[in-house]
Amino acid sequence: MSERIELFPGVIEMNYQARRRLGCCVYLVHSGSDWLLIDIGYEDTVGEIIEIIRQLDFPLANCRYLIATHADVDHVQGLGRAAELLPGSRTCGHPDAARLLAEGDRVTTYAEISAQGISIDMPTVQLHETISEGDRLPLGDVELEVWHTPGHTVGQLAFRLGNLLLSGDNIYRDGCVGNIDAHHGSDIPSFIESLTRIRDSDIEWLLPSHGPPFRKDPELLQATIDRLEGYCHMADFGTCATDWPLMDEWDRELVEGFHPE
Ligand SMILES: [Zn+2]
Repeated sequence: MSERIELFPGVIEMNYQARRRLGCCVYLVHSGSDWLLIDIGYEDTVGEIIEIIRQLDFPLANCRYLIATHADVDHVQGLGRAAELLPGSRTCGHPDAARLLAEGDRVTTYAEISAQGISIDMPTVQLHETISEGDRLPLGDVELEVWHTPGHTVGQLAFRLGNLLLSGDNIYRDGCVGNIDAHHGSDIPSFIESLTRIRDSDIEWLLPSHGPPFRKDPELLQATIDRLEGYCHMADFGTCATDWPLMDEWDRELVEGFHPE
């Protein structure tokens, strides 16, 4: 048996538990004899993660849910494998993630980035349950409240547990956000709404899907929101922008004429 390293009461993160980087953050939440996993990561680390969980003395039959924060390959490639190894659990995610997983969509999930020579497996999975805003997942004496926080992608979810938010790819400790990409269904105005919601909430700690947990910092969130507000009016993220004022200026100058000084 190994000693459980709890980040917060009832919350273990598998990279931190292993004391080395396995992939995306894999959170194990437990209460009473029940537990669940939020994301599982790549398929080739599933066996190791489940072995760690066994060593921590969590009965494998008591895994209630395998949750996908969203359908990116680095979060869910191992979901089908994990579901086979944990047959008592129910797989769940947002309806949009369910669709991408059922179709095995390779582009939206980043399994295929042909311009960069990236092409990896994306096993299809039929989720047992879809979940979205306001749903509650009971676990022992606690419940996880589901937040729908689109922006990075349409089906991005976050999960509230008391004063913690398992926050997915909304924001990381350095103020970076989950990447913004038209092919991924990113939407910058929705992203700003999701970040504003997190900023204005009474959540105290953010447990992101990449990197370390951190205390919610309204200034960090505001700086990130301001950056994304800028992107709405810049060419940097192409069709994700809402407008590009330079083109309006140019329209005027085309009519009025160009007057070099
Ligand atoms: Zn991610």
